[in-house]
Amino acid sequence: MKQLLPLFAFLAGFSTLSAQSTSLPIICGNEVFSHIVQEKYPELDAAFRATFEEAARQSHVITQRSPLNVKVVVHVVWNDPVENLADSIILNQMQILNADFNRMNADTGNLRTYFQDVAGSADIHFELAEIVRVQTDALFEVDVLGGDLLSALKSDAAGGSSAWDTEHYLNIWICKIQPTAIFGLTIGQILGLAFPPNGLDHWPEGVSAPTAEQDGVVIDFRAVGSNNPNTIAVPGGTGNLTIIGRTPVHEVGHYLGLRHIWGDGGFLGPNDCAQSDGVDDTPFASAQSAFDCDLNKNSCEQVEVFYNDDPLDLVENFMDYSQESCMNMFTKGQAALMRSVLMGPRAGLLDPVSTIQPVSVLDSRIFPNPAQDRAMVAFQLPETADVQIRIISAAGRIVLDMPGQSFSSGQQQMALDTRRLPAGMYFVHIQANGATAVKKLLVQR
Ligand SMILES: [Zn+2]
Repeated sequence: MKQLLPLFAFLAGFSTLSAQSTSLPIICGNEVFSHIVQEKYPELDAAFRATFEEAARQSHVITQRSPLNVKVVVHVVWNDPVENLADSIILNQMQILNADFNRMNADTGNLRTYFQDVAGSADIHFELAEIVRVQTDALFEVDVLGGDLLSALKSDAAGGSSAWDTEHYLNIWICKIQPTAIFGLTIGQILGLAFPPNGLDHWPEGVSAPTAEQDGVVIDFRAVGSNNPNTIAVPGGTGNLTIIGRTPVHEVGHYLGLRHIWGDGGFLGPNDCAQSDGVDDTPFASAQSAFDCDLNKNSCEQVEVFYNDDPLDLVENFMDYSQESCMNMFTKGQAALMRSVLMGPRAGLLDPVSTIQPVSVLDSRIFPNPAQDRAMVAFQLPETADVQIRIISAAGRIVLDMPGQSFSSGQQQMALDTRRLPAGMYFVHIQANGATAVKKLLVQR
């Protein structure tokens, strides 16, 4: 994800980082992932590249444009209550995704004139299907050497939250990502990570990781939204990162097949000007721009075919590691590539939700609503199921957690004792057979 830096810069003890970050790096989880893939599964890496090249080829034959809609499930897996982000922060992040992927963001005018014609709208729209909240005692840390990228976060049994069908939903997990350490030495903080497209015909069989259940995006709880009261201190540094919701934009870009704008070179070695990200209209850069916004930087002094010129580094791109306030665009080439991925390896995301949602709690409703001392939850079960009901406050706190109760199929109902709840708005989560229905409940006094 977003930020940064070659791990190696820290390990080798030399500083390629700019002056304001004499600190430990904030690592990009995608870089860690690429490293693991290259080290452990060379054939997987080759498949990635083939996938990417195939998508890039397709991008040139797409002529018709129509809006593409992606359904999103957000999993909030929290330990400390500050990690249990309010709905308002998650909704704000959804708005930012929709603005940035459609070039409706307010800061498009900050893009240098030279690049204005290159900027594009992907016409990809994100629709929030559900917020799943899970309270946990588990801690989530990337195991760089073991090659485990937060699999526990994506497992109910391990204290996380299991994915909704990853073929049809973009799953975004929000949690506190623990600082990353190797041999007990903290090397940085990952703000987010995402897996590029998966499940293609030419994907190798029998690879233990990544699994379909792990597909999706992970974001540290401090890197969500532009209205998030939590801040991220640069590890070992003196300041905080300014977060305005661009980390998820960057990660979803990876999820839809984009590579870093500098070409993903050099996790353990120097980057260079020969590494392409596979997109014609993103200028070559020798490395990521670590936190800065240097509009005069030209890290690769070479004439590029697309520009017939030697363009400066495109630090405003969402797939660089610039400051979030500096980023404001995808290129047309990147937009086309993401669309081709959505119509290719990730086409399942575009299926109508009504045909694929694993609904097992049908037609649920609550009455009376508003309620005072008692409310009834009515629901229709297609088969026998263990039903669990939770009431969550508007602030995201679980205020009532009823033990699971077995019901046979058909129309059923359950009573909620609301006498101890302060007046206000609540969300009632009705879970059965892995599906969740959420209903609003107003309690009056
Ligand atoms: Zn990244």
